[in-house]
Amino acid sequence: MVGGGPAGLTFARVLHRHGHRVTVFERDPAPDSRPPGGTLDLHQRLGQLALDKAGLLEEFQALSRPEGQAMRILDTDGAVLRDWQARPDEQANPEIDRGQLRDLLLGPLDVQWGRDVTEVVPGTQDGALVRFADGRQETFDLVVGADGAWSRVRAAVSSATPRYTGVTYVETSVDDVDTRHPDLARLIGDGSVAVYGVNRALVAQRNSGGHVKVYAQFRAPLDWHTNLELHLGLTGCGRLDLADVEAVRSSLLALFDGWAAPVLDLLRHGTSFVHRSLYVLPVSHTWEHVPGVTLLGDAAHLMPPLGVGANLAMLEGAELAESVAGPGDLDEGVRAFEEQMWARAGRWAKITAAGLERLVSPDPSEALALFDEVQPS
Ligand SMILES: Cc1cc2nc3c(=O)[nH]c(=O)nc-3n(C[C@H](O)[C@H](O)[C@H](O)COP(=O)(O)OP(=O)(O)OC[C@H]3O[C@@H](n4cnc5c(N)ncnc54)[C@H](O)[C@@H]3O)c2cc1C
Repeated sequence: MVGGGPAGLTFARVLHRHGHRVTVFERDPAPDSRPPGGTLDLHQRLGQLALDKAGLLEEFQALSRPEGQAMRILDTDGAVLRDWQARPDEQANPEIDRGQLRDLLLGPLDVQWGRDVTEVVPGTQDGALVRFADGRQETFDLVVGADGAWSRVRAAVSSATPRYTGVTYVETSVDDVDTRHPDLARLIGDGSVAVYGVNRALVAQRNSGGHVKVYAQFRAPLDWHTNLELHLGLTGCGRLDLADVEAVRSSLLALFDGWAAPVLDLLRHGTSFVHRSLYVLPVSHTWEHVPGVTLLGDAAHLMPPLGVGANLAMLEGAELAESVAGPGDLDEGVRAFEEQMWARAGRWAKITAAGLERLVSPDPSEALALFDEVQPS
């Protein structure tokens, strides 16, 4: 198993439950070597089903936040357009912090931290050969690439590479929101708040412990920061140094100029800024089956972050583990799994691609219409 994200850890955990030993090779030097990222909503028929297969559903329910499903939509003047609250027993998509989910899945697993895979060569005499950055190499009957968007395993089965969607996120965080910024805490509520404008949006999501993640989303070319006047229409602004926190803040405030002051406080109180250009793999990405190597999660079907990537990754991890855990033919199990994954992921890739077009759109009413179509009433 290459990669200790939601896909890889769920695969390993379900195999472990079936009595198999599996080694996870993870590039990060330690579980806490980088911030784990924001909150994830786990759907009943996807991520939660995977946790059930891993025997972890009850522990998840004890940690997760059903109230985090709440969603408020404002217009750019700050007027509330929608205010959806989850019932206390609503278990459709409760939220969990990524770090909590990782720790839940890690449990007793054997993860080899700091093992950076550089290449996988299928079909050698002893199986699939895995090469590591430190010069070591090992062979396995089956190598599962769950190594995310920029997978190194993917090249063993496919020549596909991610392409830029035209949408960029700049992510920031607000800490201790309830005590330090009570007005913002009220604006965000128990879950998320989203504000949609022309080709741009601001979305804030509450995590546990009063931590909030804010995503400034906008359409721009990949090199937008090299010339803000040319690419974003910010008069008199040239190159932006993405490492300069105050320069990024004031550029974003200029980009969202005219939006209601309480909404812009999401940017004013942000502590640091992380630049994420959104990439996707081709919709319905498949490959000729290669014995001894397969892919899961973002490595197989990177799609826009519209709340399903981790869910699919986890369900695939659980399903592949179940397919190969029994006494049947290993390769047949992998083939059957791949067919199932491709069909489901292809459907979601189309839905999320269309969703991104509507959420960061020239017509902000499209985002509201999408919300009305998908939100339970
Ligand atoms: C801003 C944002 C918000 C999101 N919100 C949601 C959400 O609410 N719900 C949802 O379902 N999805 C969400 N997603 C999508 C979700 O994060 C991904 O789909 C999910 O993390 C994919 O899991 P994965 O295990 O396939 O890959 P990853 O989570 O990327 O994990 C890959 C792992 O492999 C390791 N790795 C990489 N390269 C190597 C290597 N060469 N050798 C060894 N290890 C390696 C990495 O360090 C990492 O630990 C969001 C994404 C973004 C960007």
